[in-house]
Amino acid sequence: MRITHACPACGATVAHDAIESLQVLDCPACRATLRIPEDAIVRSGSTPKLRHCLVCRSREFFVRKDFPQRVGLAIVVVGLAASCVAWAAHELVATFAILFATALLDLLLYLFMPECLNCYRCNARYRGDGVTADFGGFDLETHEKHRQAVARARQLGGPRPDAPAS
Ligand SMILES: [Zn+2]
Ligand SMILES: [Zn+2]
Repeated sequence: MRITHACPACGATVAHDAIESLQVLDCPACRATLRIPEDAIVRSGSTPKLRHCLVCRSREFFVRKDFPQRVGLAIVVVGLAASCVAWAAHELVATFAILFATALLDLLLYLFMPECLNCYRCNARYRGDGVTADFGGFDLETHEKHRQAVARARQLGGPRPDAPAS
């Protein structure tokens, strides 16, 4: 199983392979280490299962396509530009052929892209065989719950107005 997450100390994007055999996640940018809780990953049979997030310990995840949005957008932009050129040259059949091919390519890429698991709270991503098996798709209510919890924690962590002056 692989993880990509933002370092809680410095915010750098950190990636680790084979996390089921690691004890800590260390950040190459700031050298902060994050101890992996022992019960975070359990083995059932041959596939390791994720119990809670290694970074924020949340138990809620959603399944998403591991699709780089920039690639999808680039295909659409190139397809549109090419179809405009064909349109300007009065190549009606070519114009629609290009548009159709663009849409088809996007669809095929989407269908064949692997899925990954995304943590609602800290946006850590998990990839690997069977990692998405026990989880469902994106749920707006759960997302909103975590967003508010994170915002509250940030407020509490900041300087409190009633704190004694030092
Ligand atoms: Zn760091
Ligand atoms: Zn998390």
